[in-house]
Amino acid sequence: MKIQILGTAAAEGFPGIFCNCKHCKKARELGGKNIRTRSSTIIDDTLKIDFPPDTYHHVLTHNLDLSKVEHLLFTHTHMDHFNPKDLGMRTPGFAHDFPYPLHIYGHDAAIYKCKEVLWHTEGYFSFTLMQPFTTYQVGTAKVTPLLADHNPLETCLLFYIEKDGKRVFHGHDTGWFPESTWEWLRDKKIDVAILDCTNGLLPGRRNHLNIEAVLDIQKVFLERNMLTENGQVIATHFSHNIGLMHKDLEEIFAPSGIKVAYDGIVLET
Ligand SMILES: [Zn+2]
Ligand SMILES: [Zn+2]
Ligand SMILES: [Zn+2]
Repeated sequence: MKIQILGTAAAEGFPGIFCNCKHCKKARELGGKNIRTRSSTIIDDTLKIDFPPDTYHHVLTHNLDLSKVEHLLFTHTHMDHFNPKDLGMRTPGFAHDFPYPLHIYGHDAAIYKCKEVLWHTEGYFSFTLMQPFTTYQVGTAKVTPLLADHNPLETCLLFYIEKDGKRVFHGHDTGWFPESTWEWLRDKKIDVAILDCTNGLLPGRRNHLNIEAVLDIQKVFLERNMLTENGQVIATHFSHNIGLMHKDLEEIFAPSGIKVAYDGIVLET
């Protein structure tokens, strides 16, 4: 399985789209892996998680062929994950030579808001309203949405994805997982876990996680024997407020073996 993380920043991007703080200035100056765009991950080129405003940039930068994407999962509708108006470009007149429909999956707010902007494109999209802790067949993958601790105004989802004998846990945006999610995960195996690290060394593990919480989650995974032999834990979704450059994050996480994501990183499992 090939997993590519396309965007690894929090909502504002890094450097922040309008920000002039010292961290953003430093990131601009250093460039490279310090430049982070808004969140998305793509699995085997066909299954995409989230559709951020930086999607077109991702297509150009990473030479993506989005016509291959048949299934799109939405975690939630914060703007850094959700820009459904651009999906209107996947209709006749704007795009050619791929099969319809694009299958879109998400919970309440995501499906509602997608239907609001894609109302004139019926037939080109199919919608599945996902219920947490129910397993869905998504192409050749099995996807189980789990509850996040994120925006209390909508149902935000984490995803446990099983495909070709491998298991990916997509764990952001979220704070410390709700008990029901921990309970569901109890006996599960994980080959790759992608975790929220928005808060860096700042305190706080509600709505988003920080470095300490990511390390604690890895500890629980190890204690419960959930990670497979070559199991990888990846930290992503970093806020500019934490002021940590890619190298700083790598140094902090080195003793734990946790990998620090950067835009375009490809993980094989
Ligand atoms: Zn986010
Ligand atoms: Zn800044
Ligand atoms: Zn969010």
